Amino acid sequence: MAKNVPVYKNFINGKWVSAKSGKTFKNINPADTREIVGLFQDSDERDVNDAVAAAKEAFKKWRLVPAPKRAELVMNLGLWMKKNKEKLAKDATREMGKVLNETRGDVQEGIDMALFCSGEGRRMYGETTPSELPDKFAMTVREPLGVCGMITPWNFPMAIPCWKVMPALVCGNTIVIKPASFTPLTVLNLVKGCEEVGIPKGVINYVTGSGSKVGDPLVKHKDVNMISFTGSTDVGRNINIAAAESFKKIGLEMGGKNAVIVMDDANLDLALEGVVWGAFGTTGQRCTATSRCIVHRKVYNKFLKMLIEKAKTIKVGNGLDEKNEMGPAIDESQLLKDLEYVEIGRKEGAKLVCGGKRLTGEKYKYGFFMEPTIFADVNRKMRIFKEEIFGPILSVIPVNSFEEAIETQNDCLYGLSGSIYTQDVNRAFSAMRDVHTGIFYVNAPTIGAEIHLPFGGVKQTGNGHREAGKTALELFSEWKSIYVDFSGRLQRAQIDTDALVKVK
Ligand code: NAP
Ligand code: MG
Repeated sequence: MAKNVPVYKNFINGKWVSAKSGKTFKNINPADTREIVGLFQDSDERDVNDAVAAAKEAFKKWRLVPAPKRAELVMNLGLWMKKNKEKLAKDATREMGKVLNETRGDVQEGIDMALFCSGEGRRMYGETTPSELPDKFAMTVREPLGVCGMITPWNFPMAIPCWKVMPALVCGNTIVIKPASFTPLTVLNLVKGCEEVGIPKGVINYVTGSGSKVGDPLVKHKDVNMISFTGSTDVGRNINIAAAESFKKIGLEMGGKNAVIVMDDANLDLALEGVVWGAFGTTGQRCTATSRCIVHRKVYNKFLKMLIEKAKTIKVGNGLDEKNEMGPAIDESQLLKDLEYVEIGRKEGAKLVCGGKRLTGEKYKYGFFMEPTIFADVNRKMRIFKEEIFGPILSVIPVNSFEEAIETQNDCLYGLSGSIYTQDVNRAFSAMRDVHTGIFYVNAPTIGAEIHLPFGGVKQTGNGHREAGKTALELFSEWKSIYVDFSGRLQRAQIDTDALVKVK
């Protein structure tokens, strides 16, 4: 093994500590597996218990820190990230492969979230409302939940932890975060930022290790009041079931199989740019990636030809080289899964019209690279139409009408993001109403959400919550209804119905 590989620790109760197991695991660069990014703690339930105990203790004081003060620390964290943006982006590219321009965006999303949430410290508005009884006052206030467990994926290693951490802190919760095992460094950087700006000990705790040894005990822990999870639908379902027994609050953001509709009146050059960016950005490894492209038959052949030509020009390679436009798959098994779907598509009778192969040769031999891939003549029965692949594979489906396009778009287990390219305002509004997703775009790709709007999906993408925007507060706080009776006597709601008359 290469020398001088840094060893990174867990962060529990304000201290950097080793896992009880004494073991570590390797984090490698998927663009160049010779590079070991670092060794991280292979933790288990014992470390989770320590982290939860620290978070539980810290909650006693943190919940009493005035929200504007908590928010000021979050703002400082955002400014710290801004100052360190380039290093944070480079570390993210090294550990998960997407090109630097995109990891810069990933970090920027975290900064945006920090600055947005810091404003909430002076809002978090509740309501005051008249009481039905005289000399009585009624209002609602937001309360923190307590210890929030966070389990995050690798594909947005900074943005997604920030969607959770920033609002949770402003609301007054304490945190135990378990990052994806592919991207522990980026979350460690975020936690270091928390330490540097003076977030008190125990308020944020960071434990690395596998889903089964760290994630599962966190989900089941009796002192964890809430779990916020982003990842695959399979793991999310298991978490939902495991947490049901204790009734803890669960926020789930899961898979997607997003579609763009290209109508016969679309600006095809614009649609082309959007579909290519949506399908091959982040190597197709986005929950909002464009995985299906539904094209009106009148422009089908023309648009398909344009797509193939453009996809062939995409420069694939190490994301640290600014010339490259698409990085590797996250690991060997994701790459093999992508290649397996190429075989599945072929066998199902779809037409492979672009790519489909692993990239080889000197430039690619130490990484998990494949060609941008396009299947034409895909239909709704095919697995490549239905299943989330999470790779640079686009299925193109011809349709005969707008109605068929909408039906095809909605024929999906997931409901995260959707899009339509059209210049007809009536069709645009019909699609906005009829496409069953949590996010929808007109004349823009399925990716590119902004942080001040709710983020999340319907059907098997989510469980009804939304992250980001003001809705993040709903996830990380609870309502308390408070009544203050200043009449000096017992007043019974619903029973003393003539109270108002009496006061006269
Ligand atoms: P994943 O395999 O489901 O992993 C997500 C997280 O769950 C990781 O931290 C993982 O830990 C952990 N985990 C695994 N098994 C667990 C268990 N039994 N109990 C508790 N935690 C467990 O997902 P991924 O491969 O990282 O990310 C890709 C998926 O995320 C895709 O399906 C994508 O669509 C989805 N995603 C959704 C959104 C959204 O907002 N809707 C955003 C981004 C990604 P290890 O890493 O240690 O295995
Ligand atoms: Mg890695």
